[in-house]
Amino acid sequence: MNAGRETAPVVVVGAGCIGAAIAYHLSRRGIKGVAVLEREKFAGTGSTAKAAGGIRQQFSSTVNVQLSKLSVEHFLRFPEEMGTGQVFWPVGYLFLLSDPAQWAAFQAQAEMQRALGLPVTTLTPSGASEIVPEVSMDGVLGGTFCSTDGLGDPHMVTQGYESRARELGAKFHFERPATGLIRDGEKVVGVHTAQGDIHTPLVINAAGPHAAEIARWAGVDLPVLPYRRHCFITQPLPWVHEKLPMIVDMHSGVYMHRESGGMLLGLADKDEPTSFDTSVNWDFLEQVVGPAMERVPGLEVAEIKTGWAGLYETTPDHNAVLGPVTGVPGLMLANGFSGHGFMQAPGVGQLIAEWVVDGKPSLDLSGLSHDRFRDGRVVVEANVI
Ligand SMILES: Cc1cc2nc3c(=O)[nH]c(=O)nc-3n(C[C@H](O)[C@H](O)[C@H](O)COP(=O)(O)OP(=O)(O)OC[C@H]3O[C@@H](n4cnc5c(N)ncnc54)[C@H](O)[C@@H]3O)c2cc1C
Repeated sequence: MNAGRETAPVVVVGAGCIGAAIAYHLSRRGIKGVAVLEREKFAGTGSTAKAAGGIRQQFSSTVNVQLSKLSVEHFLRFPEEMGTGQVFWPVGYLFLLSDPAQWAAFQAQAEMQRALGLPVTTLTPSGASEIVPEVSMDGVLGGTFCSTDGLGDPHMVTQGYESRARELGAKFHFERPATGLIRDGEKVVGVHTAQGDIHTPLVINAAGPHAAEIARWAGVDLPVLPYRRHCFITQPLPWVHEKLPMIVDMHSGVYMHRESGGMLLGLADKDEPTSFDTSVNWDFLEQVVGPAMERVPGLEVAEIKTGWAGLYETTPDHNAVLGPVTGVPGLMLANGFSGHGFMQAPGVGQLIAEWVVDGKPSLDLSGLSHDRFRDGRVVVEANVI
């Protein structure tokens, strides 16, 4: 053995919710000494810190439904397994549809989601009003509601995974960015850092919006681009109550949920070019507040308390890229969650650990493979917010 040579059974690049979940699940499956490289001072300061906390299972593709459903099972037993407080509040997600074609698609999806075991109901506008009397149903043709969707705490989840992973032998190296990959031919055999190389048979890319850069070091073209996305929070409002579900108005794209006694308002700016810019564009606030007030008239009296912007790590089909890369042994991907990485982190952690330990995951993830871009097997996820 080479004295001073640093080795690890697995190196995870990035300590966001995804990297932390993977580190925990690998450690739980008996892999000792998983190394997590994080360039910042703490875990969960990247996109994870900017997430709105939405956890939903209502997707258009079966694999996303299954991945989120698996994750909800983890979120529900998280306090017991991790020794934390509650991290998930199943207040439900209500999608409101105003476009006939979209309404038809959501009704068809609801059948698929029910067949996979989700309690999804389709609602008339008056049925939706019974759940959220605060919401104007002007122009709404119908809605879908899943009572086991809800809201979670990305910070607590990431911290929970980090601390349990550490107890099980994982090592988190903060302020130690990966600067390159060590290769032996096509194979990845380690990671360069300014504090020295780490030799390993497996590197897992969990670098969020920076994932494409890490993949490029191995000669892999990973189509994950960063896009700025905003959230704004109102001051507390008297009508906001704890049972209020996440409300998604598919007509405008505005989503809203209870936050600190007020409302969190979010909307993707479809015209935003790709960039790593996370400064808040306050001019965009008006474009969010307008449609939000139309849907929820009680917001007319609301004052905006704060706002932030973070990065979606987006793929061309709005689906994650998970698993090994054909022709590049020693590299695995857990990237490109396109706005739903927090809600899928627990399932991703479990399935990546199965891939590493058992040789394959217990869920068919072929639709999320890197090869799909090469083979033209891309199926676009329609329910993106
Ligand atoms: C405004 C907004 C709202 C959102 N709302 C939701 C929501 O409601 N529900 C949901 O599920 N998702 C939501 N998301 C998406 C979610 O935040 C992301 O999908 C998720 O956080 C991705 O986690 P990650 O661990 O892959 O990335 P990150 O949290 O970004 O973690 C990646 C880490 O890698 C580190 N890193 C990068 N390069 C290197 C390197 N070279 N060496 C070492 N470390 C490196 C970074 O510092 C970072 O800590 C939202 C995102 C935004 C921006």
